[in-house]
Amino acid sequence: MDSKRIDPGPLAQWFLAQARKLPWREAYEPYHVWISEIMLQQTRMEQGLPYFTRWIKALPDLQSLAQVEEGELLKLWEGLGYYSRAKNLKKAAQLILEKHQGELPQDKEALLGLPGVGPYTAGAILAIAFNQPEPLLDGNIERVLSRVLDWAEPVKSKATRQRFEAELRQLFSQGEPRILAQALMELGALVCRPQNPLCPECPLSPSCMAKTDGRWSQRPVSAPRPKTIRENRCFWVYRHEDRYYLENQPQGGHWAGMWLFPMELIATDASAPVSPVLGKAQLLTQFSYSITKYQVRGQAWLVQLENRPDWPGAWMDLGELKQIGLPRPAVLIRNALSAQGA
Ligand code: SF4
Repeated sequence: MDSKRIDPGPLAQWFLAQARKLPWREAYEPYHVWISEIMLQQTRMEQGLPYFTRWIKALPDLQSLAQVEEGELLKLWEGLGYYSRAKNLKKAAQLILEKHQGELPQDKEALLGLPGVGPYTAGAILAIAFNQPEPLLDGNIERVLSRVLDWAEPVKSKATRQRFEAELRQLFSQGEPRILAQALMELGALVCRPQNPLCPECPLSPSCMAKTDGRWSQRPVSAPRPKTIRENRCFWVYRHEDRYYLENQPQGGHWAGMWLFPMELIATDASAPVSPVLGKAQLLTQFSYSITKYQVRGQAWLVQLENRPDWPGAWMDLGELKQIGLPRPAVLIRNALSAQGA
């Protein structure tokens, strides 16, 4: 393997001069690094930062996270999606207090035993929080390495992972893993962007094999995407006086344990569905959202009820709906109710 492929010196210098000032980079507190890594999966930095600040203010340490009420936990996470991540953070904090003397473990096997911690997060905690030469592969690092090495294998293949991990181990052994790991991540975010990379500003430009002839545009090589499934869903917003009916979502499904308006699949978004209970239905709002491989077009119908049925869910007013963490479609419906002054 060519040990001169990535020169650690210019890469580290570039990071120290250009890195964005981020709260978890102030002291590399392991708890802060862990929360930021979980929070920023699937979320852009600008969008995630206010969430991080709010979270650390409300739950400054492992003890407060382990004891937080589920309602407050979900409220702090509302809008980030993938609520199981927030629940796993709490479960992991409890486990750390129980089995690891209240400190995030510093070895990979123990980290992988925590709920919600996979190889990437374990690598990020070890490299960034504990400065260990442990490889970590996220989308930014994969893109930078694919281009520097002009790597033609699919980026998610086993061969790619092994090659890139070996490259990272070698790189990290030549400097500060914490700095070099973040330098690659930051370089991918700011310079080696998916489109129009800023090659003249890049510290890896002298050795990058894909920078010429626009070959960067063919790297990384992606595997075919899983097929998107399109669905139309109808949400029933039953109102009695100033309260709305929501159901607690069953374990094992999306949004387990969270509150959502009754929902059903419908054949097409063009047809007006029929309310399963008597009442005058009026279209409240239409919206779309994505969850895993599903792309959903939703419509919410407001049904005013004369009498309050004895249903097993909960009746909440708008104030209460603003206090709890809700799944994405319920947030959109709540916002439509607020806008309407309903
Ligand atoms: S030289 Fe260009 S393509 Fe190569 S790593 Fe740097 S920004 Fe990416």
